[in-house]
Amino acid sequence: MSRSRLHRAGGVRNNNAPAPVVKRLSLYLRGLEKLADQKIEEVSSQQFARSLRLTGAQVRKDLAYFGQFGRRGVGYRVGPLIETLRHILGTDKTWNVVVVGAGNLGRALLRYKGFAKKGFRLVAAFDIAEAKVSVRVGRIRVYRLKDLDRIVRKYAVKLAIVTVPAEAGQSVTDILCAAGVMGILNFAPTMLDIPDGVAVAPVDLAAQLEQLSFQVAGAKVKG
Ligand code: ATP
Repeated sequence: MSRSRLHRAGGVRNNNAPAPVVKRLSLYLRGLEKLADQKIEEVSSQQFARSLRLTGAQVRKDLAYFGQFGRRGVGYRVGPLIETLRHILGTDKTWNVVVVGAGNLGRALLRYKGFAKKGFRLVAAFDIAEAKVSVRVGRIRVYRLKDLDRIVRKYAVKLAIVTVPAEAGQSVTDILCAAGVMGILNFAPTMLDIPDGVAVAPVDLAAQLEQLSFQVAGAKVKG
């Protein structure tokens, strides 16, 4: 979206917005996309917030980091707000993405159709195991690590998904960062050292199950 169009839509990027606010933007976008699917063009802030189990004040406060949205008595215009949120989140363009580690998890993600729908195009996978190299997973080819730099540059890849074991997490991260990758979705259950300017989103599935087990165990104790 051009800058002037974005201003008309009423939104600006704000890198100082707290992480929980940015996380909720994705939730708002999903909610709005659902409304758009139902051909709903406008929604009151109360109604919208309630559908997400939030308060209108919370939604207004979050969106205020990025601009002026909603009109008194009318609420939010679904289409323009979707456009603006996509711009703020950077998903109004297609991102080329690579996967490092074509094990069970990596292969499942390579076959997942949901990324393309949201503007993330998987272009290649990499693995250290010779038996996995040159094979295709779905339509994605698995390459040797030595080809990573070339392919990342060829497709101007800025985002990577890391699905190697914990002990290999740092070394593949170093290779990715040296090749110019700026964002890593990290499934390796380990903390990564990254240069300034690179972002990591950790996805530790076992740790997340642990959080759930804590909550469920707590509920059992209380009940
Ligand atoms: P499989 O049974 O197919 O080996 P897995 O899910 O049990 O899969 P893991 O041990 O979790 O395999 O490893 C995930 C993938 O990461 C494997 O395909 C492995 O070859 C690959 N891998 C391990 N170390 C590296 C590395 N340094 N660089 C790239 N890939 C690696």
